Amino acid sequence: MTVQFDQIQKTFQSPDGELLALKDVSFSVEEGAFVSIVGPSGCGKSTLLNILAGLETPSGGRVLLDGVPVTGATDRIGYMPQKDQLFPWRTIWGNVTLGLEIQKRKNSGDLCRIHCLLERYGLSEFQKSLPAQLSGGMRQRCALIRTLATDPGLLLLDEPFSALDYQTRLTVSDDIHTIIRQEGKTAILVTHDISEAISMSDRVVVLSARPGTVKAVHPLDELHGLTPMARRDHPRFHRYFNEIWKELELGA
Ligand code: ADP
Ligand code: MG
Repeated sequence: MTVQFDQIQKTFQSPDGELLALKDVSFSVEEGAFVSIVGPSGCGKSTLLNILAGLETPSGGRVLLDGVPVTGATDRIGYMPQKDQLFPWRTIWGNVTLGLEIQKRKNSGDLCRIHCLLERYGLSEFQKSLPAQLSGGMRQRCALIRTLATDPGLLLLDEPFSALDYQTRLTVSDDIHTIIRQEGKTAILVTHDISEAISMSDRVVVLSARPGTVKAVHPLDELHGLTPMARRDHPRFHRYFNEIWKELELGA
């Protein structure tokens, strides 16, 4: 799926009056690309994903999905929120099939795909376990499989690793990167972690402090084709890191 943000503007009403959250945000994501959005807390990253997912309406501008303006929520988008939000009383199987249950489409093709995903990503023997019996990293993989279960063309990940400790985070981001690549999805990752953005994506979009606006776009050409782990060891990694860090440090 392709995404095009075209001059997105978002104003919220607050007790102190109008709050401009996003200003003239324009960039696009081509089919199969993995794009990260970094920016300081409160700069409008989640708002931008919500607009893309059709959960918020922009005050100005528009978002195109495969060239067609977004007008409401769609099941073509899989949204993986910040916390894994697995239901503690449902088994892993019950959790990963939830989306299909809601969409009333538990057909054999869909169920087969879920079995495959669980198998491929090391969770099939935990189908009958409850989330509390799994490690943080496994729960995160389970949340991703739940998001992939409905076979969305576009994945949105909003700070998906922030609840994990550093070591787990490295492993899980490697896993998730592999899964997204293998499944051939277009993905947008929102994070305030520069290293995470550089290690996982094809391109990093830097947003300024509120009102969020595109400050820079880094194509990360020299890291293409490398795994997150290999990227972290690459000399160019630190140069990208410093460039982006300076852009964020200097504010709006
Ligand atoms: P980020 O995800 O980058 O931390 P958000 O998109 O959550 O930022 O929020 C951007 C700004 O918009 C913040 O100042 C936040 O307080 C404000 N905001 C977000 N949602 C609402 C809302 N529903 N009503 C009023 N203000 C909001
Ligand atoms: Mg947010």
